Amino acid sequence: MSFAELGLSDELLRAIEDSGYTEPTPIQQKAIPSVLMGRDMLGCAQTGTGKTASFTLPMIDILAQSRAKARMPRAIILEPTRELAAQVADNFDRYGKHHKLAKALLIGGISLAPQEQQIERGADVLIATPGRFLDCYERGLLLLHDVKILVIDEADRMLDMGFIPDVERIVRALPKSRQTLLFSATILPEIRRLADKFLNDPKEISVSSPTTTAETIEQFLIGVEERDKDAALMQLIESEEIQSAIIFCNRKKQVDALAHLLKRKGYNAGPIHGDLPQSRRMETLESLRKGELLFLVASDVAARGLDIPDVSHVFNYGVPGNPEDYIHRIGRTGRAGRKGHAFMLVSPEEGESLGDIQRMIGQDIPWKVLEGRKKIDIDLDAKPKRGRRSGASSKGGPRKDAPRKTAPKKEGARSPSPKAHGRRPERKDTSGQKETSEQKEAPKQKDAGDKTPKADGPDWQIPAFLAEPPPAASTPPRRPRRKT
Ligand code: AMP
Repeated sequence: MSFAELGLSDELLRAIEDSGYTEPTPIQQKAIPSVLMGRDMLGCAQTGTGKTASFTLPMIDILAQSRAKARMPRAIILEPTRELAAQVADNFDRYGKHHKLAKALLIGGISLAPQEQQIERGADVLIATPGRFLDCYERGLLLLHDVKILVIDEADRMLDMGFIPDVERIVRALPKSRQTLLFSATILPEIRRLADKFLNDPKEISVSSPTTTAETIEQFLIGVEERDKDAALMQLIESEEIQSAIIFCNRKKQVDALAHLLKRKGYNAGPIHGDLPQSRRMETLESLRKGELLFLVASDVAARGLDIPDVSHVFNYGVPGNPEDYIHRIGRTGRAGRKGHAFMLVSPEEGESLGDIQRMIGQDIPWKVLEGRKKIDIDLDAKPKRGRRSGASSKGGPRKDAPRKTAPKKEGARSPSPKAHGRRPERKDTSGQKETSEQKEAPKQKDAGDKTPKADGPDWQIPAFLAEPPPAASTPPRRPRRKT
């Protein structure tokens, strides 16, 4: 099937061609005609499937039929993290380059003033995290009665982050007659409840099982005592041909410590986690994208959806407590048909979490023994020792077969009492900050939004990398290089 058969406009077909896409992905084939016809949709799809284009492309053609008015958006896309929102905004620009549509990116952690100006000028679509959206709404910046399309993206992630009450508040503030598209990597009972509540006779589409890992990724486990992880990781890094890599840690403190250690060892490395200011998080991602950074040391804030080509390796410093996070983490490599490598350091205390992951992905990941090191036996039923911190959270996290509870509300996921027309102090937005095990680890810190300039601060621009199409071909692998 070709894009031309999907009913999209010539302007969009040109933008698609400019993006280098030759044929629609399965979700695009299934979703685009229905969205163009105005149907509600429940999409079970992960990032990496072409999901973003499946809703942004038809949305652009629908919005092109009329014009934006000041403070009256006609479409809203809700994203769980600031990074994902910025990435979707970039997609919107790329696919909408032959249209004259305006968008506003509403995310926390950066000055509100430029976002307010975009709303004032008239934005056809708002791409927002729930916290910042509600902040704008409560300040009386938005009039919502003209909203025709709502997209709730990554609904399961919203649930994990405790944003569902905020999402429900937003939906209640929107006109009843609208088109609603809801995407989730897994349709948990809570997501089904939302769908039943907010969607009207939706078309249900599902692409690829969320419990599989890409075949392009070669996975290995390395058994190691917790105290030896730093040394084992350094040895592993030295032995691999790395183009660029993401090292995932379970806790923010670990992220900072490891980034520091790598820098001390002379590597170009940068940390990213929810306690860092948004501007710094974006700069760090941009450096990775540009190839200036060899290692991104990350918490799960970077695990979902981020589309950074040329990540040759993913290292898991600890076993994630939530098995689904393993799939999201390693999915940062092996993208677009390229080969990827995923290693996970597993201590004896992490056996149970590893067992959960292997059961979920339905495969036993092979073990590798590093040169000069002894094989460590890991018992997959071993419970973590009490009072001892291992790389993984002590609980196995929500199981696939168990209904997931809504996470406790985070700062910024405040509850109601909308004073729609009163001016309020700037609302905290913690999108991208929630990482279950991290939150247990670190005392709550002040939100990044509070550290950044307020309304009168300098404008913040979407970094250039988000506006650039991914490179056509990957560059050859390089040995880990040290800073000069
Ligand atoms: P997403 O699932 O929306 O995060 O998209 C994952 C990646 O697939 C992004 O880099 C998109 O640019 C790319 N992509 C989306 N649609 C297509 C397509 N039809 N052909 C090739 N690549 C695509």
